[in-house]
Parts: sequence; C-alpha cells; structure tokens
Amino acid sequence: MNNTNNFQRSAFNSRLNSNFHSHSTFCDGRSSPEDFLKFAISGKFRAYGFSSHSPLPFETFWNMSAVDMPEYLTECDRLKKKYEHLIEIYTGLEIDYLDETYNPSIPYFRELPLDYRIASVHFLPLSGNLTESNMVCIDGSYEEFARSVDLHYEGDIRKITERYYQSVYAMLEAGGFDIVGHPDKIYQNGHLYPGFTMDADWYREPLMACLELIAQKGYIVEINTKNLIRKQQLFPHVRYLPLLKKMHIPVMVNSDCHYPDLVNDGRPEAFKLLKNLGFRTTMELIKGEWKVKEM
Ligand SMILES: [Zn+2]
Ligand SMILES: [Zn+2]
Repeated sequence: MNNTNNFQRSAFNSRLNSNFHSHSTFCDGRSSPEDFLKFAISGKFRAYGFSSHSPLPFETFWNMSAVDMPEYLTECDRLKKKYEHLIEIYTGLEIDYLDETYNPSIPYFRELPLDYRIASVHFLPLSGNLTESNMVCIDGSYEEFARSVDLHYEGDIRKITERYYQSVYAMLEAGGFDIVGHPDKIYQNGHLYPGFTMDADWYREPLMACLELIAQKGYIVEINTKNLIRKQQLFPHVRYLPLLKKMHIPVMVNSDCHYPDLVNDGRPEAFKLLKNLGFRTTMELIKGEWKVKEM
C-alpha cells in the first residue's frame, strides 16, 4: 500500500461490527476467548468467530495442539450459550495448507464440528517430510524469512514467490473451506527482499490464476486488516481490490486479531476503502448461514 493512503482510525457504523478471523490463547492469541468476546460485546458486535491456527503434524509456537481440540470446541460452545442474548458466536479454524496430505480437505478437518473454515498458507514444506525443521515459514520475522530465501531458494525472491502461489493454487483446488485467508501474504516479508516487485509477470500471473480459480469456485476472500493501521498493508493488496470487484468475488472484512483490544482494528478503514471502490456488499454468517449483507 503506498503511503498516500493514510488509514487513520475513524468512527464507524456499528451495524457492520463483526469479525470471523481471530486468535486466542488456544494458539498464538494473547488472551482467552472470553476476553476477546468482552471487547466485541462492548464494541456492539453482532457476531464473532474464533479461528485458531489449526493443529499441525508437528508443534509450533503459533498453532494449537490437536490434544486441545476437544477443549477448544467445548469452550466455544460454553461461550455461545453464555452470551447468546448478546452476540452470535461461531466456531471456526484457520487451517494451514501444508501439502496434498495435510490441508483443509483431509477427513480430520472435514469431520470437526465447525461453523466455518478459513484456509491459509503460512508454511512451505521443503520436502514431503512434514516436520517443523523442514518448513519455511513465510509469516515470521523478516530476518528468518530472508535467511530461508538465501538458504533454500538460492537468494531468489522470485523462486519462493512462485512456490508460495503454487501452494495457494493447490489449496484452492483441494477445497474443504469457506474463506481464503490473506491470499497474498507473501508480500508482507517478500517486499523487503531485494528483487521483489508486484509489477513483474512472475508475480502477477500466478496471483491472477489464483483469483480466477477463486472466482470459479465461489470462495469468499477475506480483506485482512491485521497490518492495515500499523503497517499500511492490506491483504489482498489494495491494488487487487478493483479486480476482485470486477471478478464478482465475494469479500468479507476480518481483523485477524491476536489482542482483545484489536477486534475491530482496521475494519472501519477497510470498509471505507471498499465503498470508495464501489463494493456494495460483504459476506457474513447470520443465524448460522452465509448471507450477502449491504455495506
Ligand atoms: Zn494467517
Ligand atoms: Zn490468523
């Protein structure tokens, strides 16, 4: 996002207050699910969805453990009952696509009693061996990212970018989810690495292929505002928003919050931007069903 777009916090019509991408202490979020709900309720939210980072075949700092899944589901159910007179609560997961053997389409995830599923790529396996030491994380610190590009991608930002979009494309083909999470997350660290550009065909073409497949399959794309206020970054990047509209891709606006006071962070600003670009509707779960809602 260029710096002429200055996203200041602004007042907002609470009618659109909801969030379906959020983390808690079940994964790398900084507070309990109930704490997040308290902020959502005080912010007059209509609905709130939990989307912990899914369990993986190995333990990480970010992801929840498979052994905690029953407790996660039970806690979400308890909160649904406790606060049902105040807010609609949904149980989701942000599920990692690792490879064709571990992703949202596998029976483990399909069989979980979830209200919705977000699919994201954070890790690029170096081989079919799904261990933590065999993963390149694209969403950690820039230093770690740059080291991985140097070590595993011959210092070529183009190679890791192509690899990333291959993974996103395979995730879209495999299915098993409702929402595509931050589809161009690679640019968060990628744009700091020498040689990166969004203007080259090697960047645009694989991303375009993903957007075409998204449109064809009818997935919802989230407009992820986690970095909007702090870093002036939106996922998808602001330059792709007109294209999403032109391709009739349904969108929703999620804060991807890890801290309770950030449940609505960047959402009013993103809605303002979307409206200025001619978007008229957003997707929301209303009484358990996906509905098109006027902005
Ligand atoms: Zn994510
Ligand atoms: Zn997330």
